Amino acid sequence: MSTIIVFVEQTDGAVKRAGLEALGAAQAIGADTVAVLAGPGAAAAAATLSGASIALTGDSWSPDGCATDLAAIVKEKSAAAFLCASTSTGRDVAPRVAALCDSTVFTDCTDLCKDGDAIHVQRPWLAGKLTATLKSNAPVLCATLRRNTFAPVEATGGGAVEERAMTVGKTVLTGIAAKESGKLDVSEAPVVVSGGRGLKEAGDFAMIEGLAAAFGNAAVGASRAVVDMGWRPHAEQVGQTGKTVSPGLYVAVAISGAIQHLAGMKTSKVIVAINKDADAPIFKLADFGIVGDAYEIVPALTEAVKAAKAEG
Ligand SMILES: Cc1cc2nc3c(=O)[nH]c(=O)nc-3n(C[C@H](O)[C@H](O)[C@H](O)COP(=O)(O)OP(=O)(O)OC[C@H]3O[C@@H](n4cnc5c(N)ncnc54)[C@H](O)[C@@H]3O)c2cc1C
Repeated sequence: MSTIIVFVEQTDGAVKRAGLEALGAAQAIGADTVAVLAGPGAAAAAATLSGASIALTGDSWSPDGCATDLAAIVKEKSAAAFLCASTSTGRDVAPRVAALCDSTVFTDCTDLCKDGDAIHVQRPWLAGKLTATLKSNAPVLCATLRRNTFAPVEATGGGAVEERAMTVGKTVLTGIAAKESGKLDVSEAPVVVSGGRGLKEAGDFAMIEGLAAAFGNAAVGASRAVVDMGWRPHAEQVGQTGKTVSPGLYVAVAISGAIQHLAGMKTSKVIVAINKDADAPIFKLADFGIVGDAYEIVPALTEAVKAAKAEG
């Protein structure tokens, strides 16, 4: 099989897990991969990988400049495909690369498969009601991959790193002011505890935060209903018009399970639903369902998680 170019995101020399997952997806179908990392810290990050990589070095981040270089590498290597994670950066870069390669981009793919030498992708359609299998008639298949869906490669180091200067394009990032929230992002956390309109008021999310804190590696999520009421920020909204999450564990508390919510969390590995209505649609998807009052169950569950953690 020919080569797949994988854009692997990094920050100041630290490779992002989503990039390792994209590499894992490509290698799982037997492709030769070339990882491309870009921006400040790219060379140090590339040195942590075990396979071939190209570090696009530079003092600043330029999405269109990076895309120009990625498209050139795709052509130089006669690559069959270009992949990256479905992050905000990936979604910025991938369409630019696709346009420069006279291709289109398939977004948020949840599987890669081979048909002979051709690579096909799968992605959810109609808010996850259908799974579409797609092939590209363009010479290069370009796709972004959903996070927490593919097994990551191990970053054991020792791979050959080639350094090149990154092209400075028309857009240059001059700085980022990060909020000092210290909170895990809902789309990256291994555990997500989400609350819905069944909670009586915004302050009751303290209960959801308590359960998330007990897990220690959990982010708080929310349904659109509570975001629309101003109880939670949009950054926490899970669903069709919010974030797509695929954590190892998703706990839905007092969420009915509308199709638009399910679209954002149905690929979670284990789903636990807590709802007082035994007929709530969320129970059709849940691996474990608890029918009852969230105000009784969540505190008890929080104590049980704390106790289990204390026992190690
Ligand atoms: C175009 C479009 C896009 C949308 N995008 C999104 C999206 O991205 N994300 C999203 O979430 N929604 C989205 N929605 C809205 C979606 O259709 C639902 O309205 C929303 O998900 C409902 O939120 P909910 O489950 O919190 O509230 P509800 O549907 O009101 O459900 C509340 C649930 O809480 C349960 N409950 C009540 N009290 C308790 C209690 N004490 N203990 C336990 N359970 C209790 C009830 O039985 C009920 O099942 C979208 C809608 C449209 C039209």
